[in-house]
Amino acid sequence: MCRSFLQGWKDENGIEVNAGRMNLGVVTLNLPRVAMESKGDKDTFWQILMERLDIVKDGLIYRINRTKEAKPQNAPILYKHGAFGERLKNGEPVDNLFKNRRATISLGYIGLYEVATVFYGGDWEQNPEAKAFTLEILKLMKANAEKWSNEYGYHFSIYSTPSESLTDRFCRMDTEKFGIVENITDKEYYTNSYHYDVRKNPTPFEKLDFEKDYPKYASGGFIHYCEYPNMRQNPVALETVWDYAYDRVGYLGTNTPIDHCYECGHDGDFEPTEKGFKCPECGNDDPKSCDVVKRTCGYLGNPQARPMVKGRHKEISARVKHL
Ligand SMILES: [Zn+2]
Repeated sequence: MCRSFLQGWKDENGIEVNAGRMNLGVVTLNLPRVAMESKGDKDTFWQILMERLDIVKDGLIYRINRTKEAKPQNAPILYKHGAFGERLKNGEPVDNLFKNRRATISLGYIGLYEVATVFYGGDWEQNPEAKAFTLEILKLMKANAEKWSNEYGYHFSIYSTPSESLTDRFCRMDTEKFGIVENITDKEYYTNSYHYDVRKNPTPFEKLDFEKDYPKYASGGFIHYCEYPNMRQNPVALETVWDYAYDRVGYLGTNTPIDHCYECGHDGDFEPTEKGFKCPECGNDDPKSCDVVKRTCGYLGNPQARPMVKGRHKEISARVKHL
């Protein structure tokens, strides 16, 4: 997975091993639901969060145990021919490759923006108390992951889930439960992990400064990205952002419009419509003659050829350029 990072790991001889390691999967926690269930009371919030973390832990342990049932002959390339770093024989436990923290297993989360919105309103990004609160949530998750790692011997990591479809699904489920809530469910999507509210327009520098404090608690995978208009006339501006980001964040995506219309030849940004995207010049929306590329989240996707879930479409349509 492009977004799942394997943290450093040493074998029994003290040698750092990067190749052939693996992630056993992820369970993602719906944080905005915890916040709405707490009705804005922090003690209740922490209490519900602890209960949910126990459930996530059970889900992850189940997943590990299920994965351990695999036999080397089930996936010979992975287990028998070295893709996972060693060559097991039939009958050898695959757990030999997973245990002692060689494999990671991930606790994912979504919607820190919506969580803080429950307690501080929709414009909390410049409020230090609100931001500290969201960091406390990650710190608590990280502390629990550490505890589980010691207890079970697998590397539990905190994962800023790409939420390719959860952005839609969790929000839809919460709309059924809580109704239309301003700045939370009314958008029809949840904000990815720790990301800045996509409807606002901070400069790339403000966005990076805001987001840079989160990944150290979520080293199991994350991405930052900035949205730009067509930058062909000003590549130096892109470089300035990259230079700024270099010492601050670990993984930066650059979203610039590269859509192309084969009907009229338009290059640039296609416009979002109810169903998908269309050429702003000639209105063409035929997937056969459109090349539309959007960052679904970690990956780049072609939503005209392979439509995305409604919530993700809403989220991409709401994105504001940062420069
Ligand atoms: Zn066109």
